[in-house]
Amino acid sequence: MNEINIEETFQKQKRRAQVLRSVSIFNRLEYLKKLKKCLTKYENEIIQAHLEDFRKPANETLLTEILPVHEEINLFLKHLRCWSRPKKVSNSLLLFGSKSFVLSEPKGCVLIIAPWNYPFMLSLVPLVGAIGSGNTVCVKPSELTPKVSQLLCRIVQEVFPPEMATVVEGGVEVSQKLLSLPYDHIFFTGSTAIGKIIMEAAAKNLVPVTLELGGKSPVIVDSSADLASAAEKIIWGKSINNGQTCVSPDYVYVHTQVWDRFIQECEKALAILQKEHHRPQIITEKHFQRLLHLLKQAESEGVKILVKGQMQGPRDLSPVLLEVTKNNFSTELMQSEIFGPLLPMIKYEQNEEIIDHINSQGKPLALYIYSSDRQNIQHLIQSISSGGVGINNNILQVANHHLPFGGIGNSGIGKYHGWYSFLEFSHQRGVLQTPGWAHSIFRKFFPPYKKNSEKLVSRMIRLLQRVG
Ligand code: NAD
Repeated sequence: MNEINIEETFQKQKRRAQVLRSVSIFNRLEYLKKLKKCLTKYENEIIQAHLEDFRKPANETLLTEILPVHEEINLFLKHLRCWSRPKKVSNSLLLFGSKSFVLSEPKGCVLIIAPWNYPFMLSLVPLVGAIGSGNTVCVKPSELTPKVSQLLCRIVQEVFPPEMATVVEGGVEVSQKLLSLPYDHIFFTGSTAIGKIIMEAAAKNLVPVTLELGGKSPVIVDSSADLASAAEKIIWGKSINNGQTCVSPDYVYVHTQVWDRFIQECEKALAILQKEHHRPQIITEKHFQRLLHLLKQAESEGVKILVKGQMQGPRDLSPVLLEVTKNNFSTELMQSEIFGPLLPMIKYEQNEEIIDHINSQGKPLALYIYSSDRQNIQHLIQSISSGGVGINNNILQVANHHLPFGGIGNSGIGKYHGWYSFLEFSHQRGVLQTPGWAHSIFRKFFPPYKKNSEKLVSRMIRLLQRVG
């Protein structure tokens, strides 16, 4: 754990944030370019750290930890000049002759608290957004991935002076100490339960928050879906990071008409996957035991195991397919976010039953629909609210940094990636500038109120009524 005086670092970052307000955006861009170079320089170490922390395969580290940081930096390098320009907006009739524009200003000093499941990417993608928007940043990575946290420290130290960006290692106590400080924004990624604690702590200092949380993301496979492709993609979505992904398919609703064929396709996809032993470990023994408990409890409540998992070492489990019926909905497997390689499947006949069930739970981070029926896709999107949607795919919505990424309700507050990160880490300031000559018009509305000013306002209202 790195020894950092949290209070002192915070004060230095606060002072630096004040200076950064008037520093050219080219300075931020230079830092982002330096970070980009460092990603390449440390690529092997990044892969190694993920292997040591939870045996994450190199391919997955490249694809899901390093690539998204490059993507985010590239977007900022390409668009920051345009994003940060003042945006001219129209005037209302009353303010004739004035100029109105929106200025984006950095929020100031940002705290980022990251989880363990994508420990590198979920620390650095928000950092790129915060730095790119002109803020200073303190990152608190997860204590459950110590090798990645140490490496994050090294990289951030090499690229940024500590008053601009720093990494503070540690667990809950460190997190709570950081949360007691009046940061200008807190960006938290983690569980919904801890998200509530973060928001409560932030409320004490009236600090705005972004909460990137989890939840149960449902999948719907209707009778018109391409079953082979749906099965392959869903099994891939469940197995990437071994199901320890916030937007992982949590459970699958399958139309009765295609149930048998879909299960067969899933079995085929799983057989290919299980030939090679390329999957990350479950992060800790405690998390592993929780999954085994979910499985045991579900079985004891009558849930049928369709495909058993394989265990080939400590904290290892391959995807398990289960058949759940409505009678089993009270089992913990169907109540809490699974966050591991267990995939419950449920038969359905009518859309209305699945819409009611999904809407009776907290709003999910993602909704996945496999269908070739355009009307049905539209009906499901309109009927079920979620952070994002994948149509005939899963997880990939996160990979496009032109799209906003974030939850709604239970699954989070705020959104980020690219332009949306810039908005999240900036304050949009409305500025109105009036010319000197306009005062002679405005003062007609000042007290003492005269009859003709009343008439003028009435006429304006009539005009607005007609235009509207
Ligand atoms: P977590 O909520 O346990 O921990 C996240 C961070 O909060 C860690 O850095 C941890 O040290 C800190 N923390 C834990 N308890 C705290 C407390 N009492 N006070 C202050 N800080 C505290 O989450 P996790 O187990 O690391 O990650 C898994 C969860 O994160 C899942 O629910 C998953 O869905 C969610 N997640 C969401 C996204 C997203 O983008 N929406 C991405 C990844 C993970």
